[in-house]
This record gives sequence, structure tokens and C-alpha cells, in this order.
Amino acid sequence: MEALERLREGNRRFATDYRASDEAQTSPTRRRELVTGQEPFAIILGCSDARVPAEIIFDQGLGDLFVIRVAGNVVAPSQIDSVEFAATQFSTPLVVVLGHSQCGAVLATMEELREPGDSRSRNLRSIVDRIRPAVEPLMVAESDQDPTVLAEKAVRANIQMSANHLRNGSKILEELIASEGLLVVGAEYSLDTGLVDFFEGVPG
Ligand SMILES: [Zn+2]
Repeated sequence: MEALERLREGNRRFATDYRASDEAQTSPTRRRELVTGQEPFAIILGCSDARVPAEIIFDQGLGDLFVIRVAGNVVAPSQIDSVEFAATQFSTPLVVVLGHSQCGAVLATMEELREPGDSRSRNLRSIVDRIRPAVEPLMVAESDQDPTVLAEKAVRANIQMSANHLRNGSKILEELIASEGLLVVGAEYSLDTGLVDFFEGVPG
């Protein structure tokens, strides 16, 4: 798929020789071209983590990506609405749920499951409660697993859950998937290497 390939190539540029990219993509000319409309080629539902800005890690410019960021890349109703909005308004063909290694929201959820307490803020709790269904079964089934490995698995499970939620939690998106071939994939960004691994829902 072309949109997926553009993201893969952009991420390769970022992870290898960043700054080799075209300055035209953030130029005043490009900005003016976009005043009358946008045609983003991908929708990214990513984590708010300051180290994972979608446009930078995919080396894209103004008007290229429609980005929704929320701690832990969780899917709440307002995230679904935003994805639906972009997919219908701009006919964007690709949705990427973008999680990352060492995700603080996932780690906080694991912490909460290990030592339940009410010291956390309500705001954090609403995030933790959305991540919990992905992480809890894993922690029960693999309770003697190495904590680092378990955390890696938890990040992926949370990405998969969000991707599944987008695929199955919205009539509009279900229809676009069936009739327009809208693709929803899960991907993980490595803070360490700068590389994005598209590991879920990617065609052949
Ligand atoms: Zn995160």
C-alpha cells in the first residue's frame, strides 16, 4: 500500500540520516498551498509522549498526517470521532495506531495492577482503565515473566487492542474498511533505534 510505504520510507530517513529530508515540506509556500484544504494520506493515533511526534519520526510535512495524540494511544469516543472525521472528510486510506517502547501510560497501568492504590489522579485513572483490559490478562497468564519482557508485550497488547477497537467499535469505520479498503494497522516505535515496526494488520 502506497500510504504505508511513504511512512516506512519516511521513518527510515528519520532513523538513519535525518535532516536529509526536503525543507519544502514545511516551507511558507507549502503552508500557503494548504490554506484552502488538506489531503492527509494517513491518520495516526499515537501516544502523547514528547519523544514520539508523528510528523518528525515519519519525516513528513505540513498537510501530510492527521494526528490524534493521547497518553497510551487509547481509544475513547472522542478518538473514534476524530478518526471517523478524517477518514470520511479526506478519504484517508490508512489508520496507524502508534505505540512505543517504554510507554509511561502502559507502565503506570502495570504498576497499578501490581499495587492497586488510590493515590493516582482521576485523569490518569481514566487512561489506566482503558489500558487495563489489554494488560491484565497478560499479567495473569505470565506472572512469572521477566518484567522487562512483560512490559514489551504489554505495549504491543495495548496497541493491538486499540487497533481492534477502531476496526470493530465504529459503524462508519467498519463500512469504510469493507467498502473502501480502509486499512487499520498497529505499529510500535522504538525510542532506542528510532525505527517503527508495523507489526499488526499489515497486508501480506
Ligand atoms: Zn506513551
